Parts: sequence; structure tokens; C-alpha cells
Amino acid sequence: MRPNILVAALFMSAAASAQVGPVTTEPEAVPFTVGAIQMVSLRDGANILPNDGKVFGVDAGVEAVDKVLVAAGATQGQIDLSVNTLLVRLPGHVVLIDTGYGAARGLTLASLEKAGVAPAAVTDVLITHGHGDHIGGLLTADGKPVFVNAAVRMSAAEWAAVKAAPANAKLVAAIGKKVKTFAAGGAVLPGITAVDLSGHTPGHSGYRVASGSKTMLAIGDSAHSYIVSLARPGWIIQYDKDAAKTIARREALLAGLATSGETVFSPHFPYPGVGRVTKAGGGYAWVPGLPR
Ligand SMILES: [Zn+2]
Repeated sequence: MRPNILVAALFMSAAASAQVGPVTTEPEAVPFTVGAIQMVSLRDGANILPNDGKVFGVDAGVEAVDKVLVAAGATQGQIDLSVNTLLVRLPGHVVLIDTGYGAARGLTLASLEKAGVAPAAVTDVLITHGHGDHIGGLLTADGKPVFVNAAVRMSAAEWAAVKAAPANAKLVAAIGKKVKTFAAGGAVLPGITAVDLSGHTPGHSGYRVASGSKTMLAIGDSAHSYIVSLARPGWIIQYDKDAAKTIARREALLAGLATSGETVFSPHFPYPGVGRVTKAGGGYAWVPGLPR
């Protein structure tokens, strides 16, 4: 999600019948394991967006989106989005995947504290992409790096895109020396490989964590709504910079995940954002649950 969309959503809340905007949540830390690797899903926040045809299913229309919501047992007129981040403990590395909104409203640091991890203990911050709900937590309210001992890792294409946006000047100056880039789809750390999921942004990356025969894929913003994005992966989402490329990637990704049954971590699916994808109707559905 992008902050400017959230502002628009807040502005419209007075007129829309559905209750929309940021949702008050508490810090939470839910642990789980993939093979021998310990992870903790961290709650950063949550939002409700109006189903106004401007973000989800812009090509399908409000009524069609409402139909999908109702068929899934959800409230029509609104789209629920969590914001989740992920702690991954590797031998010699304490890894955070994305950082949430940051000082203004994000709960990732408080959730991290619940997990018993101080920001200075984080050795690597892996960024899926450079939107505010993913990179906002890199800086303190007064513009200093939060994770003082961490390398900040993202794809070379994403770092180029972050640097090219004038709004990121302060961030780029503060963290530039900490950034270590990787080639699309390249190895990132022992046990973590990047997956090229570009389209949502130019260098958008997923991260696959592997331990023995067990794996988990952090899908970033390849899908936003656990209902709409899965039931109708071919519908345009306004957040996606390159809509056609993103749709092709999303359809291929979901087909693969439904076949493999691989554990998925999604930053915007209902907290803790862990589960798997299954085929349903002409599309897919989310099966929440920690891996066993
Ligand atoms: Zn997002």
C-alpha cells in the first residue's frame, strides 16, 4: 500500500458508509518455525479501505468486487488490509523482512520488543520494495537509522528506484552506506534467496527461506487483499506500477503456490499473515495457519 492512497481513503471516510481508515491494533509477535528456522510474525498495523473502485478491481467495478467479498463471507463495501513484518532467526543473523510504517504509526518496533529483540540486535533488514508501509520503519522520527548495526538489503533495481524518488532524499542520505544490493532472484543470505516479483515496483522482491526440505516464501505486495487479489488475480490493483506485468507475475505465483502448498508470508493478509494458497472456483483462496 502507498501512503497517499491511505490519505485519500481517510478523506473519503466521511462520505462512505463503510468505516474506513487506519484500525487501532496492539503490538503482537507470533512465533513459528520452518524446518529448523525460527520466525516471528510482527504486527505493524491495519487499514480498512473503501471499495470505491479506485484501488481494487479498477477494471471490474465496485459491484463485482462486492460480489467477491460477500461470496467470501466478508463485509461488502470495505477491504481489510493488515500490515505485518517478519523476523527470521538464522545462524549468525537476525533478519527483519520489511519495517512497516515507522515512527508515525507503525508497531513493528513494539512487536519486535515483544519478541525479545532490540533494534540494535538486527543484523540484516531485507526490503521487498520501497513503499512507505515497508521502508518507513528504517528511520526514527528525527531521521536517524533505527537498525544501527544492520545491513539494508534490496534488489539493485529497487534501490535505483528508491534513489530516483525525490521524496526519499532524507532516507537515502541516512541509510545509503548501509545498503547492500543483490541481483534480481539472487542469493541474499545463507538460507534466503530473493525471488524476482517485479511489477508492483521495478525491483519488487519476494524472499524464500529454506531449511532442509521446508521452505517459506515472503511474497511482499504480489497480492494485497487475501480475498480479492486471490479470487481474481487478473483484476487491476491501482497500487501496481506495471499492472500487466504484475498480473502475469501474480497469476504465475499463485498457480505455483497452489500446486506446491508452500508456506506463505504476506505483509497485507490478516495478521499473522501466514498460511498457504489453494485453488478455489476460477481463482484462489487463502488458507491461514502456521506451518506444522
Ligand atoms: Zn504494501
